[in-house]
Amino acid sequence: MPLGSLDFDVIVVGGGVAGAACAALLALQDRRVALVDARRPSFRAPDGEYDPRVVAISPGSRRVLVGAGGWQRLNTERLAPYQRMEVHSASLQVAFAAAEHGLDELGWIAEIPALETAVWEALEHDKRVQLFAPGGWERVELVQNLVRLQLIDGPQLRAGLLVAADGARSRLRRHAGIEIDEWHYNQEALIGPVTTEQANRGLAWQRFTEHGPLALLPLPDGRSSIVWSQPTERSRTLRELSSDQFAEEINRHQDSPLGAVTAAGNLHTLPLVRRRARRLVQNRLVLMGDAARSVHPLAGQGLNLGLLDAAALAEVLEHWDGKDPSPALKRYQRWRLSQSTLIGGGIHAINEVVRAPAGLGRHLLGLGFGLTGQFWPLREAFVARACGIDSDSPKLARVGPTA
Ligand SMILES: Cc1cc2nc3c(=O)[nH]c(=O)nc-3n(C[C@H](O)[C@H](O)[C@H](O)COP(=O)(O)OP(=O)(O)OC[C@H]3O[C@@H](n4cnc5c(N)ncnc54)[C@H](O)[C@@H]3O)c2cc1C
Repeated sequence: MPLGSLDFDVIVVGGGVAGAACAALLALQDRRVALVDARRPSFRAPDGEYDPRVVAISPGSRRVLVGAGGWQRLNTERLAPYQRMEVHSASLQVAFAAAEHGLDELGWIAEIPALETAVWEALEHDKRVQLFAPGGWERVELVQNLVRLQLIDGPQLRAGLLVAADGARSRLRRHAGIEIDEWHYNQEALIGPVTTEQANRGLAWQRFTEHGPLALLPLPDGRSSIVWSQPTERSRTLRELSSDQFAEEINRHQDSPLGAVTAAGNLHTLPLVRRRARRLVQNRLVLMGDAARSVHPLAGQGLNLGLLDAAALAEVLEHWDGKDPSPALKRYQRWRLSQSTLIGGGIHAINEVVRAPAGLGRHLLGLGFGLTGQFWPLREAFVARACGIDSDSPKLARVGPTA
């Protein structure tokens, strides 16, 4: 095993989509970057099936992924663009159409492993990046002007900055002693593909049901991917139902323009926990992606926030000379912590409101939708924010190249 030490400008631990994109953007600034991950993504698309872990990618995030060199490597046949979005609560709804806001798409549904593999392929072609994967670290020293990361059975890496992109249960965050606020929802997301009477071509649909938010997101083959957040026990019971029984249950709660659900594929469950780091910086360590915060999936914003972190970090470091990064990191912390609080807090509040007894919360939320739908400036602001292209988004997300 190679021992000794290796010098870099930046070490990124965690090569999920957010960390890998961050590594790519920092390498573009001509920095030497080390990326360490416990695994190496390699996505081989299974015939006719989609990975259940799909995410809605906003137009702003797409630009970040183009900047990182990953989007161009995706197989576009496995992407499902959507131009329309409907959100229903009680008897009220709000609907958005991309064209009304000068956009071609409101977003794309993409498989997480495909996104990871695409960005990693871009990294493999970049000589400024060294990949340590599969790999792990056993010791980290955060001294005043240097970071030392000892890899397991490998060299010691040294750099002026350490980026923790190691996910919601970040070990680096714990190691640095950064405290988090945590909310266990006692909810799980039930996810999987369903077939509807009408093929889903470009509609992202959501209803706040009495059990929790239910979303139908388009898949490239005309089916929909569902995300149904609900109490843990109930979601486990539903997972055991036959395809027909599940279709019947879901049809009691959905009234989308896609018609009835006629069949359901394999269902999976994921526990839902909101976490928010109280600080994003500790000396030369900086948190991003789910390591900085994880949010309820009802607004499809988790990875989008992580990709905006990647672009924001690259933006504040644009003129970093390799010496003291603290002024840049302070700016990053102010910027991205307020986003975590605003968006994460907003999503959390919606989830709490709709759990109010007797459906009162869902009526209140419906009233909010009604207002948003009728008041044009509010609609514009909502779409720009959800698409990651409002004035508070990093430059790359707002005006970066789209291909
Ligand atoms: C049901 C559901 C639906 C969702 N839908 C959406 C959506 O529509 N849109 C959206 O934007 N977001 C969505 N999200 C959120 C999104 O999935 C996450 O925010 C995103 O995947 C997190 O990416 P990340 O790169 O920050 O972290 P991760 O993907 O968790 O990556 C962390 C990486 O760090 C590595 N790692 C961890 N520990 C170590 C270690 N000690 N040493 C080395 N490597 C390590 C891991 O191997 C992994 O590769 C959804 C989430 C759920 C649960």
